[in-house]
Amino acid sequence: MRSRRTDITVEPLDHGIWRLNEYDFVNCFLVEGTEKACLIDAGAGVADMAAVVKSITDKPLTVLITHAHADHIGGAVWFPEVYIHPLDRRSGRSCTRAYQRAYFLYSHPYKRKSHRVSYAASLQKDHRPALKDLNEGDTFDLGGRVIETYLTPGHTPGSVTFRDSLTGDLFTGDNVTPMVTLHFPRGETVQTWLGGAKRTLALAGEGCLRVGHGNDAMPKEWLAAVIGWAEELVLKGNGNSRKARTVRGEKKFPCLVYRQNRVTGASRAKEQKR
Ligand SMILES: [Zn+2]
Ligand SMILES: [Zn+2]
Repeated sequence: MRSRRTDITVEPLDHGIWRLNEYDFVNCFLVEGTEKACLIDAGAGVADMAAVVKSITDKPLTVLITHAHADHIGGAVWFPEVYIHPLDRRSGRSCTRAYQRAYFLYSHPYKRKSHRVSYAASLQKDHRPALKDLNEGDTFDLGGRVIETYLTPGHTPGSVTFRDSLTGDLFTGDNVTPMVTLHFPRGETVQTWLGGAKRTLALAGEGCLRVGHGNDAMPKEWLAAVIGWAEELVLKGNGNSRKARTVRGEKKFPCLVYRQNRVTGASRAKEQKR
């Protein structure tokens, strides 16, 4: 049996929140209340995330998953049960399996190399956690703070955003990141994403956007910019290509990656022109 890895980047943020960055693959967030703690996303499963959490807090832990991609739910193999939205449950199940976790590692060779991540050690843990239902409006009282659940489909059909009542921080998974991506299999239309994205921006208030990828909180102006581009796309709504297209500002980020045939609202835009 190879030794279990726990050497990930642990960054304490304010007010009992930690950012757990698993080898640049993904950000998970640990939120601690006076009675309980919760882990938002479980990572890719390379590190023993349960042991990492234990080294920070021994409070009873609930594991909440933002969406069913292997970098967010792969690490669920280290826990007896996790919560995920029913629309993402089926793909969530497959993303805990070794072949999906292996595919994720395969597609990130540079990060794998720089952090000396080996396939064999990473996939040694093979366990099927119970997947419990997580729905819009569900709340998790940690003591002194409550984690609220909002359904924000787009990146996947069952993508959810969590809000921490103490700080107002939003945990957006991949639905809102510096690179918003809607072109993966089961990605939703730009129009569908827009609804959740506007909701996220409205909810953000004084809180930070704690995103699934990148080292810092995402500036809200970036989200506002991507929402503007998405609105333009929906209004134009032309084209029927299956190729991924990107809209971005002068720099690399923020950007929106989408499939052109995933833009909807074309007929309505045409009607408006008449
Ligand atoms: Zn994702
Ligand atoms: Zn991700």
